[in-house]
Amino acid sequence: MATYRELLDQTKREISEVDARAAQDLDGAAWIDVREIDEWTEGHIPGARHVPRGHFESRIETAVPDKSQQVVIYCASGNRSAFAAKTMENLGYANVHSLQGGFTDWKRNGLDITIPRTLSPEKRTRYSRHVLIPEIGEEGQLKLLDSRILLIGAGGLGSPASLYLAAAGVGKLGIIDADIVDETNLQRQIVHSLNTLGEPKVDSAKRTIQALNPDVEVVGYRERLTSENIDRILGDGWDVIVDGADNFPTRYLVNDASVWHDIPVVHGSIYRFEGQVTVFKPKEGPCYRCLFPEPPPPELAPSCSEGGVLGVLPGIVGSLQTSEALKLALGIGEPLIGRLLLFDALATDFSEVRIERRPDCPVCGEHPTITEYIDYVEFCAAGRGN
Ligand SMILES: [Zn+2]
Repeated sequence: MATYRELLDQTKREISEVDARAAQDLDGAAWIDVREIDEWTEGHIPGARHVPRGHFESRIETAVPDKSQQVVIYCASGNRSAFAAKTMENLGYANVHSLQGGFTDWKRNGLDITIPRTLSPEKRTRYSRHVLIPEIGEEGQLKLLDSRILLIGAGGLGSPASLYLAAAGVGKLGIIDADIVDETNLQRQIVHSLNTLGEPKVDSAKRTIQALNPDVEVVGYRERLTSENIDRILGDGWDVIVDGADNFPTRYLVNDASVWHDIPVVHGSIYRFEGQVTVFKPKEGPCYRCLFPEPPPPELAPSCSEGGVLGVLPGIVGSLQTSEALKLALGIGEPLIGRLLLFDALATDFSEVRIERRPDCPVCGEHPTITEYIDYVEFCAAGRGN
């Protein structure tokens, strides 16, 4: 039975060790830091990725998918990294080198280090279920805390979206809504309650969000979105727009503005038992006008009195929109770009339709014919089911 020292010496003989100078000469190498989180947060080698020893075997293949890539692996002094290098060799990696003397020698030699931004202990606890996911982690949570998402409407779709975005720790939430809370809203608009009847929806939503998560800054726009104010509001700087608009004029306005401001829109709509979700990302996929170049004439638009909706439906559709918005903010996964997701609550059926960008689209096409905002006549003041 080998002692720790014997095992370490044997492992070091079996792996490749490099000093700092040789390591820096390895072109395109992936640098992996295997220390504990508290060591990492006090400083690390610039460009390194943190894959702590405790999760090493399960995470290294995500961190370094190419098994032929050069890898420099380090810990504080070069012992833990020697064992990790051996593990990588066992996993089939061909070019792994353990950094001699580790981070301690690196620092002692006066080489560059990075002191990472980190979550406070309170935030690390609050968002621990995000931090635990490798695709998000501490870095992703910091990204969410830095992200700015604009909600069009604090109604049926905006309710679950605002609550889940706030709970997820999105740092800045803009909410545009001119309405006040009334009794008919409470069947589905869960961000509001009896306590806020008669209040502007923007204020009601803000109160609920702040009680849920004070990390979130809420910017309320108690106004109806028009061609007059949309540039000012979008100019406040947003990474993603979640469109919960309940009328065609707003939908077109948001579409045209998002193309011109280059901001992705997570679109959702609901009617009775059916919902739709897609992502309109300028330059990468179709826009709303690629699907519907012009709004329907008023006589063909659905009648307002028929705009019923199953109470939970906006909860489902608004949550799907939130999932897309969080993915866009984090830069992970496959967003619903060029894909229209259809949900039928009565049949409990999800289906997907491919949607293409049209070269002759009047807004995002090759020769746009619409180059300024159009205020379509409001033909359904009460909205359509939202
Ligand atoms: Zn288009």
